[in-house]
Amino acid sequence: HGVDLPQLVEQILRSYQLNAKDKGLELGQELEDNLPLVLGHYDLLLQVLTNLVGNALKFTVSGGRIVIRAYRLKYNPAIPCNKPLVRIEISDTGIGIDPEDQEAIFDRFFRVENRVHTLEGTGLGLSIVKNIMEKHNSRIHLISEVGVGTTFWFDLAVYQENCSSQESVKELKDLPPQVTINPS
Ligand code: ATP
Ligand code: MG
Repeated sequence: HGVDLPQLVEQILRSYQLNAKDKGLELGQELEDNLPLVLGHYDLLLQVLTNLVGNALKFTVSGGRIVIRAYRLKYNPAIPCNKPLVRIEISDTGIGIDPEDQEAIFDRFFRVENRVHTLEGTGLGLSIVKNIMEKHNSRIHLISEVGVGTTFWFDLAVYQENCSSQESVKELKDLPPQVTINPS
């Protein structure tokens, strides 16, 4: 299936814009012009962005900024198996994640300790994100600095209509139970 990223991002912004405003946060997008469709499952990718933007809003204090970016990666058709990709990034100017926690945050039920929260959550969001990216033959990455902010990013293959050999999104039957994100 070909997924229209601008449409997906628009839907995310619509559902979180008020929430961001309430918290004194700026929420924006920087999408490259003429992005191609990407190979993926719309509802699952919506869930990925819901979790990542929800986290960015939760772990950023008033005055901060959250941006969703998407752009084509340079690729060389002369390199065997080199596929055209689009990179998607979700950046925040939030509290950041300590290097020693950066692997564990993708584990089920893991939440960073000793945080000034009252912040709700079960610690499932990122394990679901990781699982969904695996279904897309991709991986979720992050760059973070405590007190400065965090960027999560992942790559998706460009959708090519007449390419029968392209890998499709894997079977979805063994996904973990869905969690509803309550942006409050
Ligand atoms: P849930 O997503 O189930 O509501 P959660 O948000 O606590 O709960 P995850 O989304 O899996 O769980 O995130 C795990 C932990 O990683 C969070 O509790 C938080 O400590 C840390 N974390 C995730 N995203 C960010 C971020 N953007 N900035 C700082 N810390 C983050
Ligand atoms: Mg979360």
